Amino acid sequence: MGVKINPYDIVGTQIADAHVEEYIGFYPEKNGKGVKRHYYRYSDVDGETHVTTRDNLMKRKGRNDYSELIGKRYGKIVITKYLGRVDVPGKKGLRQAYECQCDCGNTVIITRKTILSGRINNCGHCYRIVKEEEH
Ligand SMILES: [Zn+2]
Repeated sequence: MGVKINPYDIVGTQIADAHVEEYIGFYPEKNGKGVKRHYYRYSDVDGETHVTTRDNLMKRKGRNDYSELIGKRYGKIVITKYLGRVDVPGKKGLRQAYECQCDCGNTVIITRKTILSGRINNCGHCYRIVKEEEH
């Protein structure tokens, strides 16, 4: 049935927001239909791991190449570069993050999740400087 695949070919790769960590095995679906699926463990933008099927991972493909945020402006912040999964200070595990340029001249690294939440509008440092000057 179907085309023979090498189930390990996507291990270690990034598919949209999922980083495929591990191939778990070929198991029947949990819904009881008995159809066997390739299952994988992947980590999401938060570094949390989940288990899903190869089909579900493949559906994500092409959904996002992460460049769609480049050049976008959020308040004083302009997103300049996708950094991939990096160690972000103050966050546990590897996070998908962007290099961003603030109007104050600061370059900051902001996680994709934070950007998508829409809660950013400056680098955080310039805001503090302004506050201090107000005293
Ligand atoms: Zn700033």
